[in-house]
Amino acid sequence: MSTMDASRVLLLRELLASTSWVERTRGFARTMRSSTHDPGGLLLVGTPDEEPWHLAAHLDDESRLTGIGQLKPTLVRYQPPADAPPHLSVTLQRLEAARRGETVLVVAETQAPEGLLQRAWDARRTGATVLALDTGDHELESVAHELEEPVEIAGRRQSYVAVKNYCYDPSLAPPGKSVVGSGTSTDWPYWEPLIADRPAYEAEKEKIATLYREQIERFYPGFAATIEMTDVATPWTFARYTGNWKGSMEGWLYTPATGIKQLPCVLPGLGSFYMVGQWISPGGGLPAGLMTGRNVSKRIARDAGIRWKLDQGAG
Ligand SMILES: Cc1cc2nc3c(=O)[nH]c(=O)nc-3n(C[C@H](O)[C@H](O)[C@H](O)COP(=O)(O)OP(=O)(O)OC[C@H]3O[C@@H](n4cnc5c(N)ncnc54)[C@H](O)[C@@H]3O)c2cc1C
Repeated sequence: MSTMDASRVLLLRELLASTSWVERTRGFARTMRSSTHDPGGLLLVGTPDEEPWHLAAHLDDESRLTGIGQLKPTLVRYQPPADAPPHLSVTLQRLEAARRGETVLVVAETQAPEGLLQRAWDARRTGATVLALDTGDHELESVAHELEEPVEIAGRRQSYVAVKNYCYDPSLAPPGKSVVGSGTSTDWPYWEPLIADRPAYEAEKEKIATLYREQIERFYPGFAATIEMTDVATPWTFARYTGNWKGSMEGWLYTPATGIKQLPCVLPGLGSFYMVGQWISPGGGLPAGLMTGRNVSKRIARDAGIRWKLDQGAG
């Protein structure tokens, strides 16, 4: 089942490769990940006629397979049957409790009903992010946090500016202040000529900072005036700090050719060499680092003829 799904995804990606859909989808996924802080905080709601079961199941799988807890959705329903289990009995009232750090994702093939639009507005006012998958419902789109006009950041068109307020971590800023972060993918070739031209590089960073300030200000009026310090990091920054090839923050991208397959952790002809980390696990990230470490330790034990056993008492 999982193999079939992966090959379908790859086929679809190949078909869409020449369009902007892949990048737009990636941007949307990034927004969902960064706007939702905790498992269950992604509130998925459809219309009374069409509940997004399919998407809920996919997100649930995705969350489980990638270990990204905040992608685990809560399906919000209009009239769950009385005997439905608790996780399928969440009603529209849950939207009234939506708060900052949670996301309301409205999926509406037809027009979203007035009651839902009102609840989405209320959720937005209390600080939740509202996202929409629709077929041109202007009322719904006006509630969603998607940008009215796509912007260009380092040569790429973006429909979203994902923002994360780190105010929950007092170690990041003095009392009463906070760090607000935002990020997007950009291409190394865009930056390469700028790296050799310091004034142009600095001007590009300033342009990006201004763009973010302006976009965030539109959603949170007064935001720009409170900024004390801004820092823009580029792929070149990541290359300098991490030594990573082309500043890649999470190793290899998924591509139709690589899919989600792991790469070998050994090299032919190089004995006693084992590799762990993001460069053998496309998609990278800290979970990939841990998982590859565990797998490689098993491989080393196997090659050495030692029985691998997890020490439950450790750490
Ligand atoms: C800005 C930023 C934000 C990120 N945010 C997230 C996030 O929110 N969630 C998430 O899951 N992931 C995030 N990542 C990605 C995550 O940090 C990486 O995928 C992960 O750290 C990769 O782990 P690794 O062990 O493969 O490599 P690294 O952590 O890069 O470790 C490699 C180590 O090898 C050392 N090294 C390199 N060459 C040599 C050598 N020749 N000899 C000896 N030592 C060497 C390096 O100094 C380094 O310490 C982020 C990355 C960046 C840059």
